[in-house]
Amino acid sequence: MLQHAYEILHRADFAPCTLGDSCLQSPKCHPRFTPAPNAHLHVIDSYCVMLFNQSELLGHMPTLAVTPRTDADKPDFILASDSKRLPGPDVIGNGGRIWSDLHPVRVLSVWRFVEACMLLLQRSRLYRSYWMSHLCYIALYVDENKDVFDDNDLKPVHKAAFDVLRSGKGHPLDILETPQSEV
Ligand SMILES: [Zn+2]
Repeated sequence: MLQHAYEILHRADFAPCTLGDSCLQSPKCHPRFTPAPNAHLHVIDSYCVMLFNQSELLGHMPTLAVTPRTDADKPDFILASDSKRLPGPDVIGNGGRIWSDLHPVRVLSVWRFVEACMLLLQRSRLYRSYWMSHLCYIALYVDENKDVFDDNDLKPVHKAAFDVLRSGKGHPLDILETPQSEV
């Protein structure tokens, strides 16, 4: 799958890396506290598209399809241009969904993203601050955009951990590392 994705992006004119070990995405230079991609292509200069093996980040999910469904009631993926599930830009024109006339881009739905970050937070001590920063960002995002997410879509343990984070009353690991029978 990763090789397939790489080839598709290459055919779409994303540039293969020519920087070798001096590239920030190379195993030698990649920042230590963020996961290094298994492959990458360059968009402009050091701005890259990073590719990861599914088994390393989303191993809990079924094998990814090339074009996953985005129309289920509780989808694993949504279109990045979905006007029903994603907000438009903020008052100064930043953020929000992408334009619908661009090539369709599928992204994890909010509940799947939260679930993935929770599982990765539990699994990796080295990258804990990295996954926590994602969870903090998404907590702010769902508080500002009430319609994008129903926390009842999460498993009870992840819902409880996300509630702790959003309330500021503890760390998600306080819940995630508690034996589930006690939650
Ligand atoms: Zn590179």
